Amino acid sequence: MKIKSGEEYTKMVGGSVQRQFKKCGKSNCKCARGELHGAYYYHFVRVGGKLIRRYFKASEVEQTRQACLSRRTKQKAEQINSNKAWQQLREIRESLRSVTDLYNR
Ligand SMILES: [Zn+2]
Repeated sequence: MKIKSGEEYTKMVGGSVQRQFKKCGKSNCKCARGELHGAYYYHFVRVGGKLIRRYFKASEVEQTRQACLSRRTKQKAEQINSNKAWQQLREIRESLRSVTDLYNR
């Protein structure tokens, strides 16, 4: 699967959003006293069994979260639809069978 950059990519593949705070490692920095750097936002997504991480700006948080959410909702809806389609197919086959039975009688 080819991964596109930016917004389109998040909409395409869904995934999850995570917020992280970090220490830079400098002993004289504010993070050494417990004031961590951040927040950094990451978008995690599983593509072909691999976990891919993409960093994004705080200003993009809401749109990325929404993109993930809408993708998940869409996937669920697609699943329900395909289940329905199978059910309909089964029903059609059942009724077809009863029609053939009538003819074969
Ligand atoms: Zn620091």
